[in-house]
Amino acid sequence: MLANLRSVVEGRPSCSCHRPSTAPVRPSVAYRGSARRRGYAVVVRADTDYYELLGVPRTADKKTIKQAYRQKARKFHPDVNKEAGAEDLFKKIGEAYEVLSDDNKKAIYDKYGEAGLKGGMGGMGGGPGVEFSNPFDLFESFFGGMGGMGGMGGMGGMGNMSGFARRQRRVDGEDDKVDLQLDFLEAVFGCSRELDVERLAECEECGSTGVRKGTQPTPCSVCQGSGQVVQAVRTPLGTFQQVAYCSRCEGEGSSFTPCSKCGGEGRVRDTKRISLRVPPGVDVGSRLRVRGEGNAGRRGGDPGDLFVNISIKEHPELRRDGTNIHSDVEISYVDAILGTQVKVTTVDGPVELKIPAGTQPGTSLLMARRGVPKLGNPSLRGDHMVHVRVRIPKAVGAEERKLVEELRELQSKSRLGPFRF
Ligand SMILES: [Zn+2]
Ligand SMILES: [Zn+2]
Repeated sequence: MLANLRSVVEGRPSCSCHRPSTAPVRPSVAYRGSARRRGYAVVVRADTDYYELLGVPRTADKKTIKQAYRQKARKFHPDVNKEAGAEDLFKKIGEAYEVLSDDNKKAIYDKYGEAGLKGGMGGMGGGPGVEFSNPFDLFESFFGGMGGMGGMGGMGGMGNMSGFARRQRRVDGEDDKVDLQLDFLEAVFGCSRELDVERLAECEECGSTGVRKGTQPTPCSVCQGSGQVVQAVRTPLGTFQQVAYCSRCEGEGSSFTPCSKCGGEGRVRDTKRISLRVPPGVDVGSRLRVRGEGNAGRRGGDPGDLFVNISIKEHPELRRDGTNIHSDVEISYVDAILGTQVKVTTVDGPVELKIPAGTQPGTSLLMARRGVPKLGNPSLRGDHMVHVRVRIPKAVGAEERKLVEELRELQSKSRLGPFRF
C-alpha cells in the first residue's frame, strides 16, 4: 500500500485507467525529463569538405593525398596565384592536408567533420581543438623553401629564402567573444539580433598592409632583404654560427613607413554592427560561432572568428530542462475530484488542458511536443510537463463546511458496505 501511494505521488499510476480519454490536448502521465545537455557549439556557416578541396575520393590513400596537396598548394600559393581568394584557398588546402594526412585527425574529421577538430562538439569528451600550423610553413616543409619550386619563376622576393622560412608578416586575427542574453522565448524559437561588437577591423587607410599611403616598402638595409642574419655565438665548446631573424625588419626582409592611421598594424579598433541569426533551441552555455567576424588579421592576415556565449532570462511561469518545459498548475480539491479544464501557458501561447477526474496531488501531465525545438533539428520538439498541485483550503465558509460534513457522513455510510474505497 505504501509503495503504491508513493508511486502515485510521483505521477505513475499503477493502471492505465487513469489516462483521460478525451481532451483538447491529450495529456498522459509524465516520465522523468532526460538529463540536461548543455554546452553545444554551433557552426553558423557550412564547412568546406576537405576531400573535395584536395579533389580526392574519401577512400584515397596517403600517397594520393600527398600528391593532391602538392599539386593544389602550388597552384594556389598566393605568390603565384593572384586571383582573389587564392590565399584563403591555399590556407584551407594546407588545413585539409594536415587533417587527412594524420590518422587521428582524419578519423575525427570523418566522424564529426570540421567542428569535431575545432573542439566544438559537446560530446567529444571536451578535448582541446586541433591547432593548425601555419600553412606557409607546411608548404615550405614540402618544397624546401621557394627555391625548391623549380621552374616556377617569378616568385618575387622569395628566391633567396631557400631553407629558411621567411617570417610571415601576415598574422591571422584573434578570435573574439561576446555575451548575449536572450529572452526565454527567443532562445526557444531562435531570433535575429544586431550586435555592436568592438574589435580590431581592417585599416581602410592602408588597405590593411600597414604601409603608409603613397610609400613603398624597401629592402631592409641590415639583412639586404633576406630577413635573416648570421651571428657568431660563443660557447664553451667553441664559436658557432647561428642564423637568426633580422631584428631590424623582424625577418620580413623589408622595411616600410608605417601607416599613419594604424601604426603599421594594418588594423584599427572599431565598432561593427553584426546581424546574428540565433537558431531555435539554444540553451544556457550554447556558443555560436560567426566565421570571420573576430579581430582582423595583422597586416592583411585572415580575421578570427566571433564566439557568442548565450545566457537566457528566466520566464515567470516556465522552466526549462534541455528540450523539455516544466510548469505548475494549482487546482481546488473539488476540481481534483471532479476533473476540470485549465488554461496553461506554453511556449506556443495559452493552451487548454483537461485535468482528469480523480487527479492526485503531485501528478504530472504531459503535453507532447509543446517543448523546445531540438538545436540543429527544430522539427523535433521536447515535451511540456504540467505539475498539478491540489489546493486544500485552510478555512472554509459555513456553507462549504456543511457540505463537506455531509460528504463525510455519506462516506462513512459507504464504508459500512462490503466494498470499500
Ligand atoms: Zn632585415
Ligand atoms: Zn593603416
